[in-house]
Amino acid sequence: MDRLTGIGVSAGVAVGRAVILTQRTEVMRFPIPPDRVEREVQALQAARDQSRRQLQDIRGRVAHGPGGELAALFDAQILMLDDPMLVGNAEEIIRNERVNAAWAVHRAYEGLYQLFSAMEDPYLRERENDVADVAGRLRMNLRHGARGPRELLSQIDGPSILIADELTASVAAQLDWSRVQGFATDAGSRTYHTAILARSLNVPAIVGLHDASLRIAAGTPVILDGTTGELTVAPAPDEIDDAHRRAARPRRRSGAATESGPVSTRDGVRVRLEANIELLEDIEYLGESGAEGVGLYRSEFMVSGRALDLVTEDEQYALYRNLIEQVAPRPVTIRTFDLDERQIGREAGSERRRTRPGLRGLRLGLANPEVLRRQLRALVRASAHGPLRVMFPFVTAVEEIRQARAMLTDICAASGFGRAVSERIQVGAMIEIPSAAVAADLLAPDVDFFTIGTNDLIQYTLAVDRNDDRVSDLYEPLHPAVLRLIRMVRRAAARHRIPVSLCGEMASDPALVGLLVGLGLTDFSMTPGAIPIVRQVVQELSAHDARRLAGHALRLATATEIEQYLFDALAASAIQRSSSS
Ligand code: PEP
Ligand code: MG
Repeated sequence: MDRLTGIGVSAGVAVGRAVILTQRTEVMRFPIPPDRVEREVQALQAARDQSRRQLQDIRGRVAHGPGGELAALFDAQILMLDDPMLVGNAEEIIRNERVNAAWAVHRAYEGLYQLFSAMEDPYLRERENDVADVAGRLRMNLRHGARGPRELLSQIDGPSILIADELTASVAAQLDWSRVQGFATDAGSRTYHTAILARSLNVPAIVGLHDASLRIAAGTPVILDGTTGELTVAPAPDEIDDAHRRAARPRRRSGAATESGPVSTRDGVRVRLEANIELLEDIEYLGESGAEGVGLYRSEFMVSGRALDLVTEDEQYALYRNLIEQVAPRPVTIRTFDLDERQIGREAGSERRRTRPGLRGLRLGLANPEVLRRQLRALVRASAHGPLRVMFPFVTAVEEIRQARAMLTDICAASGFGRAVSERIQVGAMIEIPSAAVAADLLAPDVDFFTIGTNDLIQYTLAVDRNDDRVSDLYEPLHPAVLRLIRMVRRAAARHRIPVSLCGEMASDPALVGLLVGLGLTDFSMTPGAIPIVRQVVQELSAHDARRLAGHALRLATATEIEQYLFDALAASAIQRSSSS
């Protein structure tokens, strides 16, 4: 038995078997005794085989979907698994240096990465991203022997305690919280966010355990006391019995993960939860998520590396129609291509590319009107098959929306659908550039709805590239400027009586839902996997309290103060709830 002490951030006792989740990019190096070398090499080979199966599986699914061209990217990654420079070198490092396999993969990857990044040919240089993906997959499989957090959890029957190096909102959103009784993290930084998360989810939690995720073996029974901050590893049977008695308190949320349909806060404010999707096959998750529609379809994923001229109107029509018919009677919001000029030739789906302020999104469409017209024609035809909303990305000014809307009106007229576009298609602007947020009241008369894209809004407001790890600490959703902009957009929409939704990552963060509802937002779109947990959090909210909370938070000067305030407020409301129950 072992006792580890950290900081209890969410009260209560939980008992279960440890599930270990590590996501850090830094890899530990540790020496291994000579008699473990072969086992480490075998583990590496097993991870390679597993990675190959996973990639073949993904490749197969992509190849049969609309973005079939993307399959070639996975072919390249599958080939890399057999590259002697990666697994072969890693094997040599294990044998020669007698180190753990994950470290050996990391070292081999570094050598390859340097080789690729020094290449003159930009196409080859791009492959460094694939090498990083493959090495990351190998390391993940070495660690977990499974695909992701959900699969990881499914390996353990019964109640589990999650022990993670850190718990990000995006991972939290993917977990099955009906099985996770509590969680503990090594990290002590970002404590408030993690704590807010724990309290929003109503699970006991400890942070700041330093290296618990390395020291505890998966499957070990543990007792977590979120009040004292103590984690007992492999406790004696009588201690387990005692902890079960102390843990015997009703979990407020059970079974909600499978619910669907309308959701409201405790005091009756209706909230709409929709799904963000990239590929047609994502629709299969829609039913189980309980989404009320598709709030964002990122249409650029269908381009997937092809020259835009090859993406015909008929192909687009078929895909949009299929999407609309599958989701109907629920509505679908299709965003026109959010590509930048460097993507037109290839690599259209790459997230990395969409961070630059340049010829991108609607700007690019207006500069290449034939491409935009072709897409709008396909959308207008598809609109005959169910409720459709068309949304333009990267809007910065009213003129852009007017031009795009005029194009759509002309296409409707030419198609014999009449000029009243709004009668058949709702037209919206993504508000993801600060200029659009500040001038939202001027944009509102020209659109039927707004969708706030916080992923870009944060990066452009704070001048932080959302994919640059070196500045990721500065990428702060709770920055007062970001919250004020969200409030401005919500108010402009209310004044002009148009709906506004929020579809950035912020929407799927259970810790932020209360604040966003408090800012007056009631429509959210997010990755389908996050919908069940956000639904649970919404059901427990009081919109009235959330408004008071947001009102106060917006008077604070720093993100840290806001975070701390949310933490304190949640603690107070938990105490209130427990004393009134
Ligand atoms: C956003 O910017 O918040 C958004 C949802 O769009 P994307 O992530 O595709 O840029
Ligand atoms: Mg965006």
